[in-house]
Order: sequence, then structure tokens, then C-alpha cells
Amino acid sequence: MSLTTDHLESVYEQVISRNPGEDEFHQAVREVFDSLHPVLADHPQYVEASVLERICEPERQITFRVPWVDDDGRVQINRGFRVQFNSALGPYKGGLRFHPTVLAGTVKFLGFEQTFKNALTGLPIGGGKGGADFDPKGRSEAEIMRFCQSFMTEAYRHIGYDLDIPAGDIGVGGREIGYLFGQYKRIAGRWESGVITGKGITWGGSLVRKEATGYGTVYFTDHMLRATGRSFDGAKVLVSGSGNVAIYAIQKIQELGGVVLGASDSSGSVYDPDGIDLNLLRRIKEAQRGRISEYVEKRDRAEFLEGRNVWAVAEKSDVDIALPCATQNELDADDAAKLIKAGVVAVAEGANMPTTPEGYRVLREAEVLFGPGKAANAGGVATSALEMQQNASRDTWSFDYTDTRLSEIMENIHSACAETAAEYGREGDYVTGANITGFLRVADAVIAQGVI
Ligand code: GLU
Repeated sequence: MSLTTDHLESVYEQVISRNPGEDEFHQAVREVFDSLHPVLADHPQYVEASVLERICEPERQITFRVPWVDDDGRVQINRGFRVQFNSALGPYKGGLRFHPTVLAGTVKFLGFEQTFKNALTGLPIGGGKGGADFDPKGRSEAEIMRFCQSFMTEAYRHIGYDLDIPAGDIGVGGREIGYLFGQYKRIAGRWESGVITGKGITWGGSLVRKEATGYGTVYFTDHMLRATGRSFDGAKVLVSGSGNVAIYAIQKIQELGGVVLGASDSSGSVYDPDGIDLNLLRRIKEAQRGRISEYVEKRDRAEFLEGRNVWAVAEKSDVDIALPCATQNELDADDAAKLIKAGVVAVAEGANMPTTPEGYRVLREAEVLFGPGKAANAGGVATSALEMQQNASRDTWSFDYTDTRLSEIMENIHSACAETAAEYGREGDYVTGANITGFLRVADAVIAQGVI
């Protein structure tokens, strides 16, 4: 083994022993480390300055009790988290996830990913992430509000517009951001709009923020396709999920002439050979917060695939492009094989780490274009940074101006990843390109700032 490999493996072992049982965090670290061999071999300064050890250890991790009263008058206890991962490039920035599966390791993996993603945007934001093991499903409006208020009552003391700026993620949308911001404002006794992003348009939010992760994923994918002489026009596309990311990805794909054949939620998937009716999907998922099975009741030829993921549609139809936009590890080796058989040429991650390491290996061996989440879905957090800019200058930008900024940022991320990959002899390998670009930006700032 080379010295570089020895070093990477020994730091990886440390990560495992320091963070026992946190498999998703190990997976995220492994994925980045697998790209770093050539960089470390060429640049011993990163090894000498212990940069890997530093970027794998969060600067600060906060765990707290979230007590709240349910509609039956019972006290409920959840666990809240905020991981302030890395502030080399700016204040900690990253969303909050409310989902029953959230553990310390979940938030840590997301914070680690966020650090490199935020670096790729080229904007001055460090990496952080938070959340709680709270299950919003089946909870009343009043319960959601009380939970958010209690969460913020503790989170308040750890965040700030120059310190740490949360936003949404799974289970945290516009409604939750409203309750969180309202509680922050009450405690602070001041209007500090830059403390949280994803706010409503009339009270400090940014146009395009809601659409940004989905749009950005499609912009990035479009650049990958164009680099190989392809496009979305006429392409058959599968999108997993039916939340904020999926819905706006579908909208943009349809605008670009693609046909979206399937979408999903945690209960199953729908296959619509006539192309997803986005208004219907939005009515069910956004307005009514209903189940995706209701979709097929209104569409003649659509089928509900109960308990199955959306990649099952690849058993029924050709597929050109797949965008996993739901959650981590939702596309495994079997799914990848199915997609390849159906003819897939490109996969891009709208969610964070949705492809398993084995799934990725299968896609890579078949030379499928692959856009990793930290590059492909960076449009959400990039537009959060644009929201912060508007808040700081007490300004509001038009939809078109903000969308143009987003699309330029996605173009820059695509070209930075493509150029870095080519520089390291890995043309078209966006995983290597994204990991090395993100790493170099963070690592150089860490070294420049001394022993931090
Ligand atoms: N949760 C989103 C992400 O994974 C957005 C974070 C933000 O806007 O701060 O990047």
C-alpha cells in the first residue's frame, strides 16, 4: 500500500472507532476518501497538516431534549440535534430534518456532505445540519407548531445570522420554517431575517428558493447530458419522491420536454405511461398532504405499485434518466441493474446520498453519467445563500434574476467538477470532480486559518 492509501485508511479507521455504529456517516466519509488518493499523493501538505482528521471531526455537536405537549395533553419528548460541522468557508449552513429515523449519525453524515456541497456553490457558507427524531406524520397543525416552538426554544441559543443558519430538509417545509422563525423572533425580540432561510416571500424569503433544489438538479443534469450530446427533450425520466425536490424537478423536466413516468412516496410508487400530471400530484401531496395512491384514482392508465420504489417502473418501460429525489440509500445495486437494463444513460442525485455504494459501482461500471448529490442538489442551499444576500441588503430580487443566478451557479458547479475530473485524468467522473473540488476549497481554507 502507498503512503497515501495508508493515511486515508488510518484516518478512516479513526472515523469508525470515534463514531461507532454511525454507518451513514462512515459511508459519506468513505465516498469522499475514495476520490482523494491522487490529491494527497500530489500534495503532501494536506497529510502533514492533518486536514483529513480535521474535516472529519465536527467543530461542535449539540444534542438537546425537545419537550412538547400533544393534543391529548401528554408530554412528549424528542431528541433535537445541530451539528456545526465546518466553518472554514463561512457560517454553518444547512437544513433541519424532522423524521423518526434521525439519529446523531444521520445529522453527522448530512453535515459532512453539506460542507463540501456548500464549498461547491462558491458562496461563503460553511457546513452544518440539524433535526429531530420527530415524526410529523399524522400530527395536527397545532402539534407541529408546538414542536417547532420547543425545538427553537433550545436551538435559539446556538444559531445566528453570522453563526449558523438553518433551513428546511425532509419534514421541514415552509410551514415549519414559519413556526421556527416566529419563535426565534419572539425570543430574540428583534427581526433578524438572515437567521433562517426558506422563509415566506412576504417576510424575507427568496423567490425560487422553493423550486431551487429541484430546478438546480435538472440544470446540473442538463449540463451533464449536453456534454455528451444529449438532452431532456423526449427523454423518459423517473423521479423518486413527491416532496419539494421531486415536484420542482418534475416541473423543470417537463418544461425541457422530458416525460416523467413515475414518482413515489413512502407507501409506494405510481407509474403513469402518459406522463405525470403535475397539477394532480401537487394537489394530492402539497395541498392535501395525502398519499400518492390517490393519484391513480384520477388517471386512467396509471398504476399504483404498492410498497415498491419508483425504480420498479424500469420493469415496465424504457428509462433514459433517473433522479433519486427522496432520501438516502434508496437506489441499490438491484435497482441500478434494473435501470441499466431499461436503458438509463444518466442518474443525478436530488436527495442526499440516495445511491448506495454498490448501486454506484454498478452504474459506474456501465458508464452511466452520474451526478453526485453534493454537486447536483446544491441549488437549494445556493439559493438559501442568495436569500441571505437579499436579507443582508434588505432587498428582494425578481424570480427571473434569482433563477438566472441559480442557473449560473449550477453551470459553474458543473464545469468545476468536469474540469477537476479531467485534470486528474478522470474525464466525465463527476464524483471524483465534486469530491476533489469541494475538498480543496475546504482544505486550503482550513490550512490558511491555522490550527482550527
Ligand atoms: N436541506 C438542503 C440541503 O440538503 C438545503 C439546506 C439549506 O438551504 O440550508 O442542501
